[in-house]
Amino acid sequence: MGKKIIMCSQCNEEFENGYEYRMHWEEKHFYPYIGKASFDYERAKKDLKRDYAKENISGGKKEKS
Ligand SMILES: [Zn+2]
Repeated sequence: MGKKIIMCSQCNEEFENGYEYRMHWEEKHFYPYIGKASFDYERAKKDLKRDYAKENISGGKKEKS
């Protein structure tokens, strides 16, 4: 562990896994733009999907019990 394999395409920050990247991306590149007409939702969804697939983190997601 410790090897950073994902680089944010929007700010070049690096992350160890898809979950960290997702958290970063949502906080830095998604929530700040909600409500702004200029936000490209379709592109955002594509970016998320791409990284989910690459990291295969869906199985590691915490489920509500
Ligand atoms: Zn970023």
